[in-house]
Amino acid sequence: MTGNVLTFLGETKLELGAAGERTGNWRTGRDEAGILWLVLDKADTNTNTISEDVIRELDEHIRSAETDLPKALVIRSAKKSGFAAGADITSFEAMSDSGAAELLKQGHDVLDRIEALKCPTICVVHGAALGAGFELALACDYRVAVDGATFAFPEVQLGLHPGLGGTFRLPSLIDPTEALTMMLTGKTAYTKRAKKLGIAELVVEERHVAKAVRDIADGNVEKNKPGLKARALEFDQARSLVARKMRSETEKKASKEHYPAPYALIDLWEEHGSDEKEMQAAEIRSFADLLKTDTSKNLRRVFFLRQSLKDAARGDDDISHVHIIGAGAMGVEIATVCAIKGKQVTISDLETEALGKAVKLADNICKDKHLSGIESRDALDRLMPDPHGYGIAHADLIIEAASEEVDVKKKIYAGLKGKMKKDAILASNTSSISVDLLAGHAPLKTTFAGLHFFNPVSKIDLVEVIKGKSTNAKTVNRLAAFCGAIGKLPAQLRDYPGFLVNRVLTPYLMEAMVLMEEGVSKEAIDTAALRFGMPMGPVTLADQVGLDIGLHVAESLSDNLDKTMPKISDALRRKVENGELGKKSGKGFYDWSDGTPHPKYDDEIPKDVTDRLILPMLDACVELLRKGIAESENQVDGAMIFATGWAPFRGGPMHYAHSRGISEIVAKLKELEVAHGPRFAPDDGWSTVG
Ligand code: NAD
Repeated sequence: MTGNVLTFLGETKLELGAAGERTGNWRTGRDEAGILWLVLDKADTNTNTISEDVIRELDEHIRSAETDLPKALVIRSAKKSGFAAGADITSFEAMSDSGAAELLKQGHDVLDRIEALKCPTICVVHGAALGAGFELALACDYRVAVDGATFAFPEVQLGLHPGLGGTFRLPSLIDPTEALTMMLTGKTAYTKRAKKLGIAELVVEERHVAKAVRDIADGNVEKNKPGLKARALEFDQARSLVARKMRSETEKKASKEHYPAPYALIDLWEEHGSDEKEMQAAEIRSFADLLKTDTSKNLRRVFFLRQSLKDAARGDDDISHVHIIGAGAMGVEIATVCAIKGKQVTISDLETEALGKAVKLADNICKDKHLSGIESRDALDRLMPDPHGYGIAHADLIIEAASEEVDVKKKIYAGLKGKMKKDAILASNTSSISVDLLAGHAPLKTTFAGLHFFNPVSKIDLVEVIKGKSTNAKTVNRLAAFCGAIGKLPAQLRDYPGFLVNRVLTPYLMEAMVLMEEGVSKEAIDTAALRFGMPMGPVTLADQVGLDIGLHVAESLSDNLDKTMPKISDALRRKVENGELGKKSGKGFYDWSDGTPHPKYDDEIPKDVTDRLILPMLDACVELLRKGIAESENQVDGAMIFATGWAPFRGGPMHYAHSRGISEIVAKLKELEVAHGPRFAPDDGWSTVG
């Protein structure tokens, strides 16, 4: 962008006269037709957020539009990255202590004045309009979505609901139940759906934006209006009925005690949904209250944990060609994620059948990720089945994702000697074999590392980057930057049995089986974990992972750790011998023939069951920190949350340990040690925690 000519997405240009220069975070000016353009271009960042200064400056621009009314007002973004990524979350900390309601009122006032302007107001959205960005768009009369635009309210993931008018503007624009669902789930409305729902009046390609704006300014486009359903839901009784249904749906996913925001939103709408002014005041009060809850504070912490893992991936990514060895469950997913993110990918396997299936599976993953036809086609074009392994000679990174047997991997590495490009990295996706052991067989130890993706790769963000004793720092940094480039969060760790995530999770799964052997029902055990806030109980999780894999990891950790692990249960061994492997075979501890089981248990949880499941995980985290396997408590918390969904509203295992009190946890572990044996003996590292 130079001078007073703005370029959008490298395609269209807009001349705004002398006023097109930036002042603060906005570039503004009137075009030849007298249309006022307010173009958000937040200073010193690639991504727009709606911060206090953005709102303050917008206020001034709207005031001058009020005194010198333009033919139409357009709000859009100058950033390639999209419209706006929501509110500036860094400012929430200060807001939650004081003055939240006052600040929110100021924001509402500006949006109200945009809504009241006596000329057509148009928001042009390319990329994502999230949270407060979406709310700004909703304050306009029209929304023009550039192909690929998305709309969402992710506030619920921060323990909040929309706070700048979204709770009443969206339900009065589209079907209120769809609006509430978007706010309750945080789900994204992709372009087509946004049009269908009535969020956007027009969907156009970038080169047609100027014409769309002129058409609206000339009065040739009709505004979306709320349908019959919105009018029916103005009646209190109708809203109560829908609210009751929504509450019961929400209860299935999250308890009110752990996640109060969705319930607050439903209450708000039920009580005030027929009166926008009342709803506005109530939204402000409710948002300010939610900001102060522990849940929201901890979920905001999770947001920053993500940022800090991302920061570790900030280096320059120099990997353009990735070769994957092994087209099994993991290899294909890794290959597809890399191809979607623009990497050239070749994939080899001993079995041609596996390669045959790879492209079909990759296509399904693209569909799941809502890629456009062109994006899917481009991704699949970059993904080449390569039965002869020609890609090995050209790849910057080779990821070995072959069967979990040392001999198989050894043979593969032997075959790579003298064939890899100079400086190419070889990384193994092994989950249980020592990286140092494998390094001994690699063509070059210094450029060998572990790169542990989680299943399903396309959905789980965390990747463990394992630095062996001989791995050089450059290799680790290149792998971290590569993870960032493919949209993953790297946790850089040292080699250790189970690395971080499996080391922490395995005692949880194994203790569940000890409890079952003691006669506690699987439903009681799973319910204990769910009530604590885990996304899945340990028995269901063991079934889902595969009991054979679980047994293998349990054996490997029991053999290789110098800590006492829970005894491997006879029932687990029997199940594996009988081929009852869990989800993949249709039966494990649960019957999976009708889909994922939902254990039902309404009684009190037997004494100590929850602590016996949870505290060994905290103890393992402390062990990893004491031994220097993990870098920091934040890294441990982030890794467990982004790999396993560990009770996010508690802020991560180490954060939970601090909230509950270190001395209380140590005392409880000692008590459990006396009652149940040395596996509960507190780690020496507790004395230095915090
Ligand atoms: P899989 O059995 O589904 O696939 C392994 C593939 O490797 C098969 O297609 C097999 O034909 C191929 N293969 C075997 N020997 C080969 C060779 N010499 N050359 C080329 N291909 C060969 O296994 P998976 O579940 O995809 O696991 C692969 C790796 O990823 C393992 O190291 C495993 O520990 C790790 N891992 C698995 C999971 C998981 O949940 N499945 C999670 C994380 C890591």
